[in-house]
Amino acid sequence: MIPTHCALCPRRCGADRTRAQGLCGGGPGIRAARAALHLWEEPCISGTRGSGTVFFSGCPLGCVYCQNDKISAGNFGKVLTVSELADVFRRLEAAGAHNLNLVTATHYRPWVQQALHLAKPGIPVVWNTGGYETVEAIDALAGDVDVYLTDLKYRSPELSARYSGAPDYFDVSLAAAKRMIEQAGPPVFSPDGLLRRGVIVRHLALPGCVDDSLAVLRAMAQKLPRGRFLVSVMSQYTPMPRTKGLGALSRRISTYEYRKVVNAAVELGLTDGYMQERSSAKEEYTPPFDLEGL
Ligand code: SF4
Repeated sequence: MIPTHCALCPRRCGADRTRAQGLCGGGPGIRAARAALHLWEEPCISGTRGSGTVFFSGCPLGCVYCQNDKISAGNFGKVLTVSELADVFRRLEAAGAHNLNLVTATHYRPWVQQALHLAKPGIPVVWNTGGYETVEAIDALAGDVDVYLTDLKYRSPELSARYSGAPDYFDVSLAAAKRMIEQAGPPVFSPDGLLRRGVIVRHLALPGCVDDSLAVLRAMAQKLPRGRFLVSVMSQYTPMPRTKGLGALSRRISTYEYRKVVNAAVELGLTDGYMQERSSAKEEYTPPFDLEGL
């Protein structure tokens, strides 16, 4: 089950995960940094009691501006067995979580699926990903995942290469999003407005990258099936230590830039979903990574 020539993510770096770490930082065991009720996702995910969120350590994508830098690039976290992770899932459900929200679990997928099979959650399972997924991984998740919370970050290969080291990001992530939508089907809500099934495609507007944001939104409108997914346009970009000296990435997005992105989404008919307020760039979106709940 543990890959000896890892191809769990599109990097396909071939690491022997039984004894070594791959490019993502994932090694032989599951590593996670926090498991708690989280109120900072879209309202249909967070609800009133919070989303039972597990933040996994490491990341296949490694964006320079990642707001969870300490755990994604720094790989901070605690190693868990499959059965310990199943217990974490059970505790979150018992605490009243509306769903299990698995943040950046791509590089631990087989372990996470085993833990889900042990825990047998009675609440929806949310696969929260930067979008850099193989179609094979999405196929393998069928039956275990109800909601995909995915990203479409870039259209330009130059931009995705520069900021995430992934020139193939757009093609890979678009193909993955299409497969997620095919698998999950159109959004299904509970009577209290929580998403029980479906796909949310997020786009974080980056400062200095408005043209690319517009290209991403056009691709969403033209290449993804209308009415079968929700859009979430986000303004919460926050400069991080690693973005110092990276031009516009060392500042927040301006009101003017963000308004252009939101206006384009509206003009393209991408109104089924969420548009964050420009004032949403707050530190509350980065929770403390202190091993809570593990
Ligand atoms: S999940 Fe990690 S180890 Fe596996 S292919 Fe991707 S980067 Fe390499």
